[in-house]
Amino acid sequence: MSADAVKYRGHCLCGQIALEVEGAPLRACYCHCKNCRTWHAAPLNAVAVWPSAAVRIAQGEELLAHFAHAASDRHWCTNCGSGLFNRLRDDLIAVYAAVVVDSGFVHEAACHIHCDEAVLDLHDDVPKYTGWRDSALMPEPRRTGMRGR
Ligand SMILES: [Zn+2]
Ligand SMILES: [Zn+2]
Repeated sequence: MSADAVKYRGHCLCGQIALEVEGAPLRACYCHCKNCRTWHAAPLNAVAVWPSAAVRIAQGEELLAHFAHAASDRHWCTNCGSGLFNRLRDDLIAVYAAVVVDSGFVHEAACHIHCDEAVLDLHDDVPKYTGWRDSALMPEPRRTGMRGR
């Protein structure tokens, strides 16, 4: 990490693990896949992907555990259970954007992905793909099990 690049920092719920990311993410999106939804117990997952070299555990690394399942390798705090990131590949880490957003990171999502698995109705102008980015666009409106008005 260089001294002058912008850095964002976040903590798990108990505060014992601190995570730091440097620079702008390679991409940011909202993922609606069942893997994300089940692990987070949330209707969607906001992720921002950085090169692994730009992500650093600044504190509490000994408390970090992980669970690999399908294409995911999710890391969390063994003391409080907070999810922190998903190691996509050796060189790519998807940080859960909510972890760093309080430090000034702005999650400018380029798209929603895996919308064919969505359980939450979405009403925004962000492109919605059925699968990964650049798959087919999801026809709208989509009516799901969790909806606003
Ligand atoms: Zn914790
Ligand atoms: Zn997902």
